[in-house]
Amino acid sequence: MTQETREVQKAIVIGSGPAGYTAALYLARAGYKPLMIAGALTPGGQLVNTTEVENFPGFPDGVMGPDLMDNMRDQAEKFGTVIEYDDVTSVDFSGDIKTVHTDASGDFAAQAVVITTGSQYRKLGVPGEIEYSGRGVSYCATCDGFFFKDKPIVVVGGGDSAMEEADFLSRFGSSVTLIHRRDSFRASQIMLDRVKNNPKINILMNTIVTEVLGDDNSATAVRLENTQTHEITELEANGIFIAIGHVPQTEFLGGAVDLNPDGTIVVDGASTRTSVEGVFAAGDVVDSVYQQAISAAGMGCRAALDAQHYLTDKA
Ligand code: NAP
Repeated sequence: MTQETREVQKAIVIGSGPAGYTAALYLARAGYKPLMIAGALTPGGQLVNTTEVENFPGFPDGVMGPDLMDNMRDQAEKFGTVIEYDDVTSVDFSGDIKTVHTDASGDFAAQAVVITTGSQYRKLGVPGEIEYSGRGVSYCATCDGFFFKDKPIVVVGGGDSAMEEADFLSRFGSSVTLIHRRDSFRASQIMLDRVKNNPKINILMNTIVTEVLGDDNSATAVRLENTQTHEITELEANGIFIAIGHVPQTEFLGGAVDLNPDGTIVVDGASTRTSVEGVFAAGDVVDSVYQQAISAAGMGCRAALDAQHYLTDKA
């Protein structure tokens, strides 16, 4: 699509996770031929970086995350969604027609916008984390686990992501140590049991990582502090996988819609209407509680229906 030939769209969907594809599917089936701006590097969202998804209804034998996202994309495209693989860098929601500026393809305009940009990995914020990112520090076990074959690995976190990563990484590492800051876990029982029953995984509770240490080339260890005794120790580790949750991706909005204190987008009650008329939001960028593929998909459906009502009223 060249800049000169661009018409004002009926609807633009920003983001391409379960919420985005579902919103696009519904808008496409309603005849709005939505434009999806899917992201340049990681279209498909977080499920592209996961392995087997066992809790998405309709797949009793599980489904691989990337396959599920490919199917969602194909289904949205089948009904007329047009996809641009680019990043939105800023927006202008001040007028009746909303403008979205992209990194490589210029501006797109639409009557309605649905924001489904999800969230990104939360950082630990300790010395060495950024320096050794990509050289030992990782936020994605399925992406990087293979590089740490027969090497000592640590996983930081106490939720389902940390359990999933620790279990997956036990196939590769010479050892896996799960480090959690409290004395109880947020993870679901089934995921926790898998980790507890895995003989290759050692669990350290009441422990925080205070620094990632290395030899300038790559990470070699983590410095730990016991939160009860304040004892400081060092643990050898070449792979440091950080799985401590996510933060909503809203920087590109530049304050164009209201945000909650936790960074999620404010929506009106159970609807997906944001503080700006004609702009809707769905998925993890709104929801810091449920954060499930299926709940994001459900919210994407609601956003499409809210946008359709808005477009119908305007027509
Ligand atoms: P989460 O449930 O929010 O857990 C984050 C964990 O990181 C918590 O244990 C938290 O500790 C810890 N943490 C947060 N900030 C920290 C910091 N600065 N330093 C050290 N530890 C820190 O996030 P998640 O595990 O990514 O899961 C997100 C959602 O996705 C959940 O709803 C989860 O059920 C879902 N999920 C499901 C599956 C599955 O079913 N297959 C897999 C992955 C994720 P505290 O507990 O002390 O707060």
